[in-house]
Amino acid sequence: MSKIKAKYDVIIIGAGSSAYACSIRCAQLGLKTLCVDNLDTNTSSGAFCNAGNVGMITLLESAKLYDTLLNDIDSHGIFAENVSLNLPKMILHKNKILDEINHNVIKIFAEYKIDFINSKASLIAPKIIELSSAHSPSQQIHAKYIILATESIPITIPCTPIDNEFILDSTAALNLTKLPKRLAILGAGVIGLELAAIWNRLGAETTLLEAQETFLGLSDNQISRQAYQIFTEQGLELRLGARVISTKIINKKVLIEYQDADGTHAIRVDKLIVASGRKPNSESLSAPEADLLLDENGYVHVNENCKTNLPGVYAIGDLTLHGPMLSHKGMAEGVFVAEHIAGIGSSSINYNIIPNVIYTEPEIAWIGQTEQALKAIGDRINIGIFPLSINHQPKSVINANGMVKVIACANTDTILGVHIIGCHASELIAQAVLAMEFSASSEDIARIIHSHPSSAEALREAALVIKNKGLNS
Ligand code: AMP
Repeated sequence: MSKIKAKYDVIIIGAGSSAYACSIRCAQLGLKTLCVDNLDTNTSSGAFCNAGNVGMITLLESAKLYDTLLNDIDSHGIFAENVSLNLPKMILHKNKILDEINHNVIKIFAEYKIDFINSKASLIAPKIIELSSAHSPSQQIHAKYIILATESIPITIPCTPIDNEFILDSTAALNLTKLPKRLAILGAGVIGLELAAIWNRLGAETTLLEAQETFLGLSDNQISRQAYQIFTEQGLELRLGARVISTKIINKKVLIEYQDADGTHAIRVDKLIVASGRKPNSESLSAPEADLLLDENGYVHVNENCKTNLPGVYAIGDLTLHGPMLSHKGMAEGVFVAEHIAGIGSSSINYNIIPNVIYTEPEIAWIGQTEQALKAIGDRINIGIFPLSINHQPKSVINANGMVKVIACANTDTILGVHIIGCHASELIAQAVLAMEFSASSEDIARIIHSHPSSAEALREAALVIKNKGLNS
């Protein structure tokens, strides 16, 4: 065992998006920073900064282009003949983008003089981590502060053993180089739906098996109902209340058994993707003698300042139960913790105003409370809904499905929630984030002038509906 002399102010374990934001901010504030992660540098997916998200969005973009050229372009007077799919090239394009991001991060780390060590690390005491690598003897490093940012990993289910040939995890599902004719996805949550949006568009007959009876239970009911309708019209087979209970590989096919209210059924597919949710990546993060407090599901216990039970040890991102498992939440926490350590007071994170986005086509995005949650607690609310088919801008683009729904408090008119399904929802939600951050009322949004025609007008139109002043509905 060798010891590296203490020279760091901060050690960050993890190199995902939360760790990235935290490392940069620490360095900007003059803290000598080390980032440690056990990256698989042979693959683009083992890269810095949440490769899964970027890979998913890049492939979805490619799949949308392909689908548009195949199915939606004629009405524009454009005839694209002999459109064909070169899947290995599409995956290479995605990996190239991930590599570029990787190189950029390495460059920025070097500019800020942030050290990086590629190794497995675990916390052994409040100010000490131990590095263990197959290639070198284990060693200890000290720092004044340690920030845990190892994010989350997929939940595995015993009946779907991942082999990444027939039964794939969500990372392998972004690296298929041969199109499966029949594909099943276990789990119709965010990741399952995003993967379905890619592979269904590329031509795989896609079936989603979801154990729960409700579809997208966390989003507003009206939005999830419309999403269900749009996705099934697109050819996605969505089986709700369908719990996968066993799988077998027979003759290079996956035989899946699932149970629903009518009994047990079986389907045979070329590939099964397991998207059964994620859990905090905390299993070997700390040695038992470190006494880091975790809950029974592996979440690291933190206070409102992201401090764990150990002095000088913080946890951020998917590791904690505060807020949703989303990269932008973790990045905000990374910046907050860096500033907290540096002693420059920044206000604590408002976990009620964090946008949620599902990168399907159309996209789904929301912020704040749902209609059903507000009604359940007896709040009096006003609702304005604007169907995107009426908006001039989305009409001129290919997919005009969807709606914007604004919910305001009936007494104060303050915006309590905004829910969008439609083209550019991930961008449009930014207006709602700003509005809610500044406690805007629906009247405030209704008075804002946007360029015309543009998608941006849709939120204003929904707010105008609350005042019965809608211009287009
Ligand atoms: P998310 O946590 O948003 O990624 O969603 C994961 C989804 O997988 C949840 O909606 C779960 O209900 C679903 N799920 C988990 N286990 C099974 C199973 N054995 N069969 C079908 N769906 C499952």
